[in-house]
Amino acid sequence: MSVRFSFDNSYARLPERLYARLDPTPVAAPALVRVNEDLAGQLGLDPEALAGPEGVEILAGNRVPEGAAPIALAYAGHQFGQFVPQLGDGRAILLGEVVGRDGARRDIQLKGSGRTPFSRSGDGRAALGPVLREYIVSEAMAALGIPTTRALAAVTTGQTVLRETALPGAVLTRVAASHIRVGTFQYFAARGDEAAVRLLADYVIARHYPQVAGASRPYPALLEAVVARQAELVARWLLVGFIHGVMNTDNMSIAGETIDYGPCAFMDAYDPATVFSAIDVMGRYAYGNQPRIAQWNLARLAETLLPLLAEDHDNAIAAAQEALTSFVPRFQSAWSEGLRRKLGLAMQREEDAALVQDLLQVMTENGADFTLTFRILCDLATNLQDDVALPGWFADAPAFVAWLGRWRRRLGEETVAPEARRAAMRAVNPAFIPRNHLVEQVITAAVERQDLTPFAELLEVLSRPYEDRPDRARHAMPPTPEERVHRTFC
Ligand code: AMP
Ligand code: MG
Ligand code: MG
Repeated sequence: MSVRFSFDNSYARLPERLYARLDPTPVAAPALVRVNEDLAGQLGLDPEALAGPEGVEILAGNRVPEGAAPIALAYAGHQFGQFVPQLGDGRAILLGEVVGRDGARRDIQLKGSGRTPFSRSGDGRAALGPVLREYIVSEAMAALGIPTTRALAAVTTGQTVLRETALPGAVLTRVAASHIRVGTFQYFAARGDEAAVRLLADYVIARHYPQVAGASRPYPALLEAVVARQAELVARWLLVGFIHGVMNTDNMSIAGETIDYGPCAFMDAYDPATVFSAIDVMGRYAYGNQPRIAQWNLARLAETLLPLLAEDHDNAIAAAQEALTSFVPRFQSAWSEGLRRKLGLAMQREEDAALVQDLLQVMTENGADFTLTFRILCDLATNLQDDVALPGWFADAPAFVAWLGRWRRRLGEETVAPEARRAAMRAVNPAFIPRNHLVEQVITAAVERQDLTPFAELLEVLSRPYEDRPDRARHAMPPTPEERVHRTFC
């Protein structure tokens, strides 16, 4: 059986200055870690062929599949607020694009595939641990229904990569709506290459925002559309306790997907100031800062579009500002609408905002687990009268019990049947998230004991995050104090 990708490589047909053409660098001894069978099917690929010898050679970068046009993309970016005019794919290669069964075009990229002309330093490789983390967390996000890049496969290379110690090397095959970032626009804007910015904007409109193409003023409409997707995306992150960790402009996708899973993490105990990333010493990318940072990043995108906006407007800056200010109401409505759903509030009442705020406040003060709290509320949303058994960390906090009384009284005003409310709440409040300590345990087992069973188990439970799984209770629990992970690394 042979591995056939039906490539149609539109980005590689753009002018040569947008990328560098090169093949992945072969590795010593490719071995399969996993193929994502569901995703392969959606892309029209044969998962068995992909897991076979020829497939593994392709996934490792040792063989370039027919029809591929391998390129490393040029981009720049603000990293922790500092502009770096040249980043680019320093350890990734885009093999090409395929159009899936759903008609959507997607990039197939190898990450960890060797040095490129954009590698400033580093070996161009990836270690197995971070590859598994990206695989787990991106697939968990997809199962939660949050726009994200996906993991098609992971292979080990038979080589080591040198970090603090020598680690097993791996390559992740990443699938994305595209790999165009805010930083891609910045790369060309910083060089004064207005033609490339225009070309990129037109390409992005055609590929990701076709509804904008017919607008009388397409460029401001494009900016507004990107703002809308990012506002929605960040609200979705907050509603599941996700912390991206490195929201640099080069890690923000123009298509509105979550991309570049580095020191990302899910919050256990609720606290808006939560930071896990070891490199984020100032807390710039803390959980609660993410909306503000997204807006800041979008302002950097807007700057690159000013020459195009000027064609349609006497005052390009005012046009950019208008699009940017739409971020706040869009984020606010996605966030508060999401919280209402999490709390089973179908009707809108003036006092709801305070009810929600007070819950978050009580959770912060009591170090309540974000995911479990909302999941437990689902079960409390049917019976509004009787005393109910509460978990210790809930029952021992009088503020929680008082809040619960207010919420149940408020639910009493709803017309939705209690069972339907519970079902609706359970569909938005996951039981399972990729908790840091579980991800770490999986990585340790894989790296230190070559045991991939915990990885497979975790993926399986995270693929259906809204189902109760009494047999997987361990995966739903917050970490014990000894298990707690305080820092995550790239
Ligand atoms: P990332 O952490 O993948 O978002 O990468 C941030 C920037 O550093 C990008 O320009 C990467 O291409 C580059 N980079 C990260 N790790 C490596 C590595 N091991 N070798 C070469 N470049 C790297
Ligand atoms: Mg080139
Ligand atoms: Mg990156």
